[in-house]
Amino acid sequence: MSSGEKFDVVVVGAGPAGLSAAYFLAKKGFSVVVLERGMEVGAKNVFGGRIYSHVLDEHFPGWRDEAPVERWVRRERFSVLCKGASATIDYSRDGGPRGSFTAFLGQFLRWLSSRVEAEGGLVVSGVRVDAIDFSDGYASGVRAGADSVAADYVVIAEGANSLLLERHGLRRKPSTSEMALGVKEVIRLSEGAIDTRFGAGSEGVAHLFIGHPIRGVVGGGFLYTMREHVTLGLVMRLSDLSEGAAVAKDAIEDLRATPVIRDLVGDGIPVEYSAHLVWEGGRETVMEEPFGNGYVVAGDAAGFLLNTGFTIRGVDMAMESGRLAAEAIAGAHEAGSRSREGLSRYRALLEDSFVLRNMRRFSRAPRFLSRRRLYAEYADAICGALGDLYSEGAEAKRACASVTAAAKSSGISIPTALADIWEACRSI
Ligand SMILES: Cc1cc2nc3c(=O)[nH]c(=O)nc-3n(C[C@H](O)[C@H](O)[C@H](O)COP(=O)(O)OP(=O)(O)OC[C@H]3O[C@@H](n4cnc5c(N)ncnc54)[C@H](O)[C@@H]3O)c2cc1C
Repeated sequence: MSSGEKFDVVVVGAGPAGLSAAYFLAKKGFSVVVLERGMEVGAKNVFGGRIYSHVLDEHFPGWRDEAPVERWVRRERFSVLCKGASATIDYSRDGGPRGSFTAFLGQFLRWLSSRVEAEGGLVVSGVRVDAIDFSDGYASGVRAGADSVAADYVVIAEGANSLLLERHGLRRKPSTSEMALGVKEVIRLSEGAIDTRFGAGSEGVAHLFIGHPIRGVVGGGFLYTMREHVTLGLVMRLSDLSEGAAVAKDAIEDLRATPVIRDLVGDGIPVEYSAHLVWEGGRETVMEEPFGNGYVVAGDAAGFLLNTGFTIRGVDMAMESGRLAAEAIAGAHEAGSRSREGLSRYRALLEDSFVLRNMRRFSRAPRFLSRRRLYAEYADAICGALGDLYSEGAEAKRACASVTAAAKSSGISIPTALADIWEACRSI
C-alpha cells in the first residue's frame, strides 16, 4: 500500500463484516482495499466456534466444498453447574439439514479473504488505521501512520472495540454493563476421544453453561467440538469484572475443573488462550444511524450481535450487514451520491433483514439475563430439586414437593419465580 492511492472503497477491518462487504463490492466491480491491523488475516479475531451457515448458503456458491469446516453441529447441550452436581438438557437431531458448523475463525477468515481476492479485491494486513479522513464533512479515506488511502466510501468494520468510531464522535463509548469480556481456551484432544466422549460421533457439539464457576457474575460458558480440538470459554459482564467479582482467567480454570467438563477435556492440552470484548447491550447498543456522509458501519462495530443466553451469534449477522453495506454503497454510487441520505437505504435494508429482526426480537434479553439469581439461586434450585428427586433413600419423593422445597431453600419466592418465568418467555 502506498500513500496517495485512490480506491472506490476502503474497508477498515478484515473480520467477517469487512471481508463480506469487500467480497460483494468487488463482485460488483468496485475497486476495494481491506486494511487489517493484525499481522495476518484472522490473527486478532476471537469467537467461540459456531457459525450459522445460511448467509453462506445463499450467497457463496460452492462454499461447502471449500471453507474450513471443523464439524457440523448435531447436538446441543445446556448445563446448569452447581457445586458437586450438574443438570444438563441434551438435544440431538438425526439427519435433516445442516445449518451450523464449528470452525476456527482465523482459518475461516483466511478462506473468506481468498474469495475477496478472487473477485479482484485487495486485502492488506499489518496496517492499523489511525483515523478516518474527512473533507467537507464527507469521509474521503483513511490514515495509517504516515500513509493515507483515499476512497469514495469508507466501510468501518473494526469490531466491538470501536475506537475509530469513538475517536470521531460517531458512537458513544459503551458502559461496562453494556460490554462483556469473552475468554477462550483451545484444548487439543484426539479426534477419537472427541468422537466417543461427546456422543455425537464425527458430528459437532455445542454446549452452553451457567452456574457455579461464574457465581455472582453475569455471564455464561461455552464449549464447541472441533475435529481435534475443543474450545472452552466464558463471557462475563465487564462491570462485574471491574468490581473485582471474578478474574477471567481463574474463572475459566474453575470451569475446566468442574467435573462435567473435566471428564470431557481434563486430559486435553490447552494450546491457545485469547480474550476479546463482546457486546451485552442488545438492541440498545445498536447504532441508530450506522451510516453518514461517505461511510457505513457494519458488524460488531455497529452493535449487531445476538447474545440470548442460549446462543451467542455475531458472525452471520456481521456477514449479512457487510453484504447490505455493499448493496447500500452500490445504490448510492449508481445515484451519484456519497451523502448520508444517499446511503440511508442501508437502514431500510437492515430493517428488512434477519439482522435487525433478531435484534428486535431479543431486545429484552440483556435486561432479563442481567438478573443475578439466574446464575446462582436458580442453579442451586434446579440442582437441589433434582438431587432431592433422585435421592436414594427409602422414601420416594413427589416432583412438585422437591421443586418447591429447593426453591424455598435457595431463597426464591413463588411470585418471583412466576415473574421470572413470564419475563423469560417475553425475552429469550
Ligand atoms: C468469546 C466470544 C465468543 C463468540 N462466539 C461466537 C460464536 O460462537 N458464533 C458467532 O457467530 N459469534 C460469536 N462471537 C461474536 C463474533 O466473534 C463477532 O460477532 C464477529 O467476529 C464480528 O465480526 P466483525 O467483522 O464485526 O468484527 P471482528 O471479528 O472483531 O473483526 C474486526 C477486525 O477489524 C480489525 N481492526 C480493528 N480496528 C482496526 C484498525 N484501526 N485498523 C485496521 N484493522 C482494525 C480487527 O483486527 C479485526 O480483525 C463471539 C465473540 C466472542 C468475543
